[in-house]
Amino acid sequence: MTQWMSKTKQQIKLLKKRHYYDNWSIKKYPPITFVVHPSVKVEDNWYKKRLLAYQHNAKILQVSPPEVTFYVYPSIKAGEKLGIISAICIIKEREIHGHLNQSPGHELTHILLGQINSSQNLPAHGFWQEGVCTYLNHTNTDQKKHLLSLNLPQSILTTPWQKWRIQIPGNLYPLAGSVIQYLVTTYNWKKLISFLANLKNLAQNQDKVALKIFSRPLSKIQQDWLHWIKKY
Ligand SMILES: [Zn+2]
Repeated sequence: MTQWMSKTKQQIKLLKKRHYYDNWSIKKYPPITFVVHPSVKVEDNWYKKRLLAYQHNAKILQVSPPEVTFYVYPSIKAGEKLGIISAICIIKEREIHGHLNQSPGHELTHILLGQINSSQNLPAHGFWQEGVCTYLNHTNTDQKKHLLSLNLPQSILTTPWQKWRIQIPGNLYPLAGSVIQYLVTTYNWKKLISFLANLKNLAQNQDKVALKIFSRPLSKIQQDWLHWIKKY
């Protein structure tokens, strides 16, 4: 776990102990319970979009969506004032601390992935989780186009994915998102889901699992993907 994450988690615990959230309002859209900062005024539509993304992605990932508590902060800045990065998902506790301007689907998809495999096996901020959450963020972004618009250097595109197995930098989420796009359009969701479900030990066995599920080593899949984005 990164430093900002454990710091944020600790700070949330402390705020709860001090009853900081007691005057936040509750909005129920089962299975999501939103806990909303007193200054936040949002349209019903904002909640509905999240609920829809959650249900839709649950179907894609073939899991039943668990109950989740979603704390809504007005902005990233508002969270920072409290010592919190309000773009965090605590999978084990099924709790999201998010803000108004995030994509509808990203954080909620982390919760769904927790139903497929534990973060001990499928690292929460690693290549595979962030890739799926970016691909399923419900913003209508074509991740392949997004990636190409970033003009990343070839050295980044050819870096073995193994390097980001446990943690991927935020600016490379579209790269991981485009890999997921490639895998589900070339193979299918069923195969990708069983790939994710079979990862063990912080995805240490990812090469073996890829070979078993996709009948191709990951290094070859990366080459296929480079061809697909025309950057070989
Ligand atoms: Zn994420």
